[in-house]
Amino acid sequence: MTDEPQPHDDQDVQGGDHACSGCGPTDAAGDTAKTDGGTAVDDAGGGAATDGGTAVDSGDGFEPIQVFPEAEDADLRPGSDDCYKCSTCDTTCPVAEVDEDFPGPKFQGPEQWRLKRSDDQDIDDSISKCSNCMRCDSACPSDVPLSQMHNTARAQYVDEQMDKTSLKYWRNRLLANYGTMARLGSTFPRLTNAVMGNSLVQQVNEKLLGITAEREFPEFATETFRSWYAKRGGEATSVENARRARQRRDEDVDADKRVAYFHGDYANHNTPEVAKALVHVFESFGYAVLVPEQRCSGTPMFANGMLEDARRAAKVNVGSFSELVEDGVDVVCSCTSCSMALRQEYPELFSIPGTAKVAANTYDAVEYLRINEDLDGELAAAETTTDDLGVDSFAYHAPCHARNQGLDGQTVELLSQLDDVDAEDVGDSCSGISGTYGWKTEHYETSMKIGDEMFEHMEDADATTGMTECPTCAMQMEHGTGYEIEHPLQVLEAALVDGATTEDEAA
Ligand code: SF4
Ligand code: SF4
Repeated sequence: MTDEPQPHDDQDVQGGDHACSGCGPTDAAGDTAKTDGGTAVDDAGGGAATDGGTAVDSGDGFEPIQVFPEAEDADLRPGSDDCYKCSTCDTTCPVAEVDEDFPGPKFQGPEQWRLKRSDDQDIDDSISKCSNCMRCDSACPSDVPLSQMHNTARAQYVDEQMDKTSLKYWRNRLLANYGTMARLGSTFPRLTNAVMGNSLVQQVNEKLLGITAEREFPEFATETFRSWYAKRGGEATSVENARRARQRRDEDVDADKRVAYFHGDYANHNTPEVAKALVHVFESFGYAVLVPEQRCSGTPMFANGMLEDARRAAKVNVGSFSELVEDGVDVVCSCTSCSMALRQEYPELFSIPGTAKVAANTYDAVEYLRINEDLDGELAAAETTTDDLGVDSFAYHAPCHARNQGLDGQTVELLSQLDDVDAEDVGDSCSGISGTYGWKTEHYETSMKIGDEMFEHMEDADATTGMTECPTCAMQMEHGTGYEIEHPLQVLEAALVDGATTEDEAA
């Protein structure tokens, strides 16, 4: 057992609290319950009405009191009354730090929702400047569900105020639905890479769509992860590889060790080497890796206010993963934004049956191995040379969404077990790209200003290779420094897995 966060208690989204910071309690409709002074008030009359935190009893049974009658129909998000205006969230916001016109999370969250009490008040368009990094969530001492408020405010802004014929709307829709683009791009990857890498096409994208020409478009792999997985024999091969590994490890060969892998779109289409590393590492610990049907986690959709697109994707994901969870299989992710979406954003925003069960049984892949296996011990015992790894020091950046899950110290601590390998944490600043945010022409400069601190620390570190768990942070790290970037799972694969890649290639 490690000091990593423990799994969430099993729960139902209806009425359940859950362990993530920044999440509010939810009512039977899946909406968050109104609170007064931090105590939940059940609108159905089934819970305790409170007055300054004291339950009121008429003497002959329970009689609820409407504390704020004038707020009955108000569009007030729960938690806004929990904000006591300390402004701590504002001091942690990377966008507010570099853009003096951005009003900050306190305004975007509790204040917007207080303003919304009056019907004629629009959502302020500065909501589209929030990058959805979610740093403000962990900063709030009063557990105000800031990112939930931002996500719902952004969705309302897009639904009711954004011009659906504007190029900006369609640009955002395109970026939010990266999976659809990626499926098309992966059909003819070499052609797509040549076209998207052409500087003229990049200029046209910038002028026409507002997608910055400053960044190199990520290349599509010539074979997707899912094709590779199917070609090597799918689930049957993974089950057999895991059984053999348990035999080698002197474990019960019939043990039920299975995980369901949420790979997301990027690892499937762009970095299958990360997804393959996860499969090899888990199989080497005796786990069969199942790869159920899935769509995008929804992270870029939340960030662009496309809540209905996210809901459709979440329905598919919760549908296929909850069946496996029911069967005792845990969910693992290689991207910390994907695990964040499944663990926190789905329960905060949707009431799809099975959401809470999936949230309670989802883990970051490395976190899962640290909880369930002696990962640190096996790394310490590994006879890995720097030749095996091809590098002896890494400049490590913990993504904001890893911080939100309490995972920021994990990788450096873990890699310190390896002899002669050093991973230096480059500090707690945000990388600045925040998914699709830094791809928008109007946000590119802000994104790079935010990233400056991380670039400087990477360059000061005694390393020329970067490391992170988030694919878009990796893009930003590479863009700002020119370093190659690896995922921790690739290092674990090099350190712990014998010849797996060769076996796959021979299959
Ligand atoms: S940190 Fe929390 S309590 Fe303080 S201003 Fe922000 S939302 Fe309000
Ligand atoms: S999510 Fe990030 S960018 Fe948005 S208000 Fe919070 S800290 Fe600022």
